[in-house]
Amino acid sequence: MIDLHCHTLHSDGTDTPEALALLGDEARLTALCLTDHDTLGGIPAFLAMQPRVKTRLLAGTELSCRFLGRSLHVLGLLVDPADARFQARLEELRGRREDRNRRMILRLAELGCPITHEEVQAQAGTPLLSRVHFAKALAARGFVRRAPEAFERLIGDDCPGFVPREELSPAEAARWIREAGGVPVVAHPGRFAGGGFRWDEAMRDLQAEGLEGLEGYYGEYRAAEQKYFVALGQRLSMVVTGGSDYHGTHKPGLRLGSGRGGLKVPDDLLEKLETQQRLGTYR
Ligand code: AMP
Ligand code: MN
Ligand code: MN
Ligand code: MN
Repeated sequence: MIDLHCHTLHSDGTDTPEALALLGDEARLTALCLTDHDTLGGIPAFLAMQPRVKTRLLAGTELSCRFLGRSLHVLGLLVDPADARFQARLEELRGRREDRNRRMILRLAELGCPITHEEVQAQAGTPLLSRVHFAKALAARGFVRRAPEAFERLIGDDCPGFVPREELSPAEAARWIREAGGVPVVAHPGRFAGGGFRWDEAMRDLQAEGLEGLEGYYGEYRAAEQKYFVALGQRLSMVVTGGSDYHGTHKPGLRLGSGRGGLKVPDDLLEKLETQQRLGTYR
């Protein structure tokens, strides 16, 4: 089994890259791709673990895009971590994230929940601050009882304390990832829109914009969703990938490799992904 989607404390997970590599080995994964949001910051330490583990360690990232007025996540799998232009582009995204964070702190103060940048930073292991760190800081100050309540009342996508950041277009994200030698993949499409949504049409549009794969196997899919998205990928000749979206203790009960228990991402998906990476067209 493999896992092509997971996070460390370089974004909104709680494990170090070293611990994640060891966890992949313990889970007897054939391959593990680290995909922190907007950064390759954990990749050097992660790849440096290769001599100590049997699991193949791979580089990736996860970017946020604007699609149909909502946030769509795109994985950049197998990107070249040494690509200077891609690094600069990610740095720009992190700058936009910091702008958003500063404005969110001002907004939260207006809503009667004054927290400081330092208090949010204290909840994070690296300088990349995500809403999960805001949630923990709000709980630490007693503005909410527990972190999930912060997402329900204050900083969830439709809540008054949420400030959107300027996001990429799917075409831009796909181009950046391709130019860094990686394969652009629509992350967890089932989380963007579920039953009733006309995915055939939307996914064809995304494919036309340069998205080459979709995440058919996912840590939080129900069996029917997995079946639907694997079939959709095959129908559209897109490369199908899969991963747990492991975040350490920020997603309780979700395990690397096996997700909520039943996740099994087949090894041969990686061979197809690598063929896609080389040839650019899927067959
Ligand atoms: P950010 O990239 O800073 O906007 O934060 C997004 C992250 O917050 C996601 O990757 C999730 O880890 C987390 N998140 C977003 N919405 C929720 C929610 N409703 N409940 C729990 N965590 C969430
Ligand atoms: Mn996340
Ligand atoms: Mn995501
Ligand atoms: Mn993720």
